[in-house]
Amino acid sequence: MVKPETHTRSASDNVAHVSILGATGSVGISTLKGIEEHAGRFDVTALTANNNVDLLYEQCLKFRPEVAVVANEKRVDQFSARFSGNGYKPDIFAGSHGLEQAASLDEVDFVMAAIVGAAGLPATLAAARTGKRILLANKEALVMSGSLLMDMASQHAARLLPIDSEHNAVFQCLSGGSEREVERIILTASGGPFLKLPLKEFAGVTPEQACAHPNWEMGRKISVDSATMMNKGLEVIEACMLFGKDPSDIEVVIHPQSIIHSLVAYVDGSMLAHLAYPDMRVPIAHALAWPQRIHSGVDGIDLAKLGPLEFTAPDQNRFPCLRLAYQALEYSGSAAVILNAANEVAVESFLKAEIGFTEIPVVVDAALQHVEHENMQELEMILTKDQQTRLFAKRFIEQTGLRH
Ligand code: NDP
Ligand code: MG
Repeated sequence: MVKPETHTRSASDNVAHVSILGATGSVGISTLKGIEEHAGRFDVTALTANNNVDLLYEQCLKFRPEVAVVANEKRVDQFSARFSGNGYKPDIFAGSHGLEQAASLDEVDFVMAAIVGAAGLPATLAAARTGKRILLANKEALVMSGSLLMDMASQHAARLLPIDSEHNAVFQCLSGGSEREVERIILTASGGPFLKLPLKEFAGVTPEQACAHPNWEMGRKISVDSATMMNKGLEVIEACMLFGKDPSDIEVVIHPQSIIHSLVAYVDGSMLAHLAYPDMRVPIAHALAWPQRIHSGVDGIDLAKLGPLEFTAPDQNRFPCLRLAYQALEYSGSAAVILNAANEVAVESFLKAEIGFTEIPVVVDAALQHVEHENMQELEMILTKDQQTRLFAKRFIEQTGLRH
């Protein structure tokens, strides 16, 4: 279980060397902003991207990492050529192996795991195997690997700090009592852009509408996940893993204002909540500085100007993906891998306008019903199940005429 016991920084770790996996994404960019604000405290050792070599190049010139990784091997030469005639050039690595190298460099203290999707799993495991502080944004990696990542982190004294705002909130609220005094964990959910959309209009939702989240600016995949509430489903699984809880100990409540990021209920009837404006710089600053606190660049809440905070139970008809995630937890074994892989394929197809919004849960449900569930103990098995499910989901979309 991830628990906030106290820890003091030693004199030797005054400067923390950070590797940012997924530097060109929404979380990666916010992390670099945080580091820039505290330049003497953090040093950027490695940056990684997949396709966006233009931004990676700019980031390299600004932060001067020793290592840069381009995961998409086809773009490496283009990236490397940018440095000709330049005094500075980082060591450039490529592909999945390059990501693992960036996560496990000897000189790296902190790894920000901010790649989206299953692609981030091997590098996140490499960070755990080499005992890094892992700032975990890449929830899909934890959903897929479950106890494998948790066990590896604990075996190698790697400290996992949640970046997902809900889990970071829970982590902070857990310091209010002991493990056995926790009665339940309550994850808040904004409900996304379609909280009040009439159900009959769901089928016609476009990718642009789904990506226009009312409170958060995020990458496209997580934005769609928020609109279907699969994001909250993945987060329920994430919370079970991080905090060692059963699904029945995790409650989800809709809170459209996204001010309370989650709560912990204790046996005495107390509830501790974490409040902040919805800005990822807050959890990122928390995890970068933990157990200390630093300025995040985000103002504290002006309570008098806030207006009412609302809470309602989620509507399962509106958000079948949330129910599917609880179902995957009930099945256990490889079900979370299947859920995640089918969802990644379905979301990608939706973003390309190949399938409709309401077909995302149809694909995930079919995969959960038809792909064989097995016990998963090793990375190889997880990656094989992931691939098998992706094939199933792609074929299902083709063969059932879901593809427009
Ligand atoms: P983005 O889509 O904005 O960024 C994704 C990053 O991952 C980019 O750097 C991208 O590189 C890289 N990437 C994508 N595919 C691959 C691949 N196959 N191999 C290697 N790198 C790859 O995502 P977000 O920043 O929004 O989200 C990142 C993670 O954090 C997700 O797991 C998400 O669920 C989680 N998260 C995000 C939050 C947010 O506010 N954004 C909040 C809570 C959690 P490139 O740009 O070069 O293509
Ligand atoms: Mg979240």
